[in-house]
Amino acid sequence: MRSLNEGIALVARSFASDPTEEPLWDFACECGRADCREWVELELPRYEEIRHGPGSVLAEGHTTFLPIGRRRSAPGSVGACAGTSSPSRASSA
Ligand SMILES: [Zn+2]
Repeated sequence: MRSLNEGIALVARSFASDPTEEPLWDFACECGRADCREWVELELPRYEEIRHGPGSVLAEGHTTFLPIGRRRSAPGSVGACAGTSSPSRASSA
């Protein structure tokens, strides 16, 4: 998806003749889901801003499928960390 968007950005750059008017371009959503067919309308500068940053081009309501690290607070997941205290008896007399 990323290479596809790079191609779109390339075309967008070649079309950028009037810097005062930024047209919207359709970029593919980069959430990483195989069944995602969403497109995101972005101005080229906005796309490049995202590209240079840590983020991804995402459709509304979409989130990156793969966790990028930081912000690992998954809502709803209860950390059931029941410490299994196995009675380990020292049977060595
Ligand atoms: Zn998506």
